Amino acid sequence: GITRDMAELVRQMTHRGVAHEHGRPTLEMQGVTVAYAAGINGVTTSRGTDYALKNVTFQVGAGERMAVVGPNGAGKSTLFKLIVGTLKPSQGEVNIFGHDPNGHICIAYVPQRSQIDWSFPVTVEDVVMMGRVGQIGFFRWPRRSDWAVVHRSLERVGATHLAKKQIGELSGGQQQRVFVARALAQQAELLLLDEPLNGLDMPSQEAIFEVLDGLRPDGVTVLVATHDLNLAAERFDRVMLLNRQIVALGEATAVLTTDNLLAAYGGHMTVIGDGDMLLADTCCDHD
Ligand code: ADP
Ligand code: MG
Repeated sequence: GITRDMAELVRQMTHRGVAHEHGRPTLEMQGVTVAYAAGINGVTTSRGTDYALKNVTFQVGAGERMAVVGPNGAGKSTLFKLIVGTLKPSQGEVNIFGHDPNGHICIAYVPQRSQIDWSFPVTVEDVVMMGRVGQIGFFRWPRRSDWAVVHRSLERVGATHLAKKQIGELSGGQQQRVFVARALAQQAELLLLDEPLNGLDMPSQEAIFEVLDGLRPDGVTVLVATHDLNLAAERFDRVMLLNRQIVALGEATAVLTTDNLLAAYGGHMTVIGDGDMLLADTCCDHD
């Protein structure tokens, strides 16, 4: 029923806080391997070839904005689920400010559009208020100050006029902005957006980047999974090129080389001209 769904939604989206360990990076993965068991939602290492991710090691610092790019099935969504803690690695460690992801209030995660039930009967301001649940707890009503935070967050993403609308009535770009507002209300320090740009027109994409630019002064760390290599190159501090392993990670010019892209995309890519890329993107819109 709705109550159970709502509780599950809130559980997935908010995490009670634990103290941060001083001097540790916002996010670090060390030797992380994920092996999905066929037919089971859990994780085992039973079949050596079925790695969704293999030996992934990297760090992200406070306030950084990193794009995660790679072909369909590269493990981008898996990476994000490890960071929010809804999925456990088969091997290796995930640390947020020096702690296991569970218990962290500071992570806001916007799943891939296909994983959200958009017919869920909830208003925009309620969605944003869900970001406050970790702060206020399940067992009291939101205070006036919580609503003030909600409305300020909506204002920051230019969505004040949408507050009373049902979430399902919004355009894709508006939905993404509302979820960023929820992250703001949550006072998230780490924001994960899984393919937020899919199916959005240029002005809507631009609006999202404007909102992300607005998070910079707050030192919010942002990870965005995307298929758009141009945007990855232009709008992010660093790019992670992923295909079950990290093919390359660093500044876009060093990462998005012909050799690296061929290594990551293989047969799905056509090289034209002198290192100009044309990616055959046919498999990307399965959602
Ligand atoms: P991406 O987001 O880059 O498209 P995913 O992280 O969704 O990649 O998937 C990586 C690989 O793990 C794919 O081969 C996919 O089929 C597999 N996979 C993802 N989720 C599951 C699951 N729950 N059970 C079994 N295999 C899965
Ligand atoms: Mg994905």
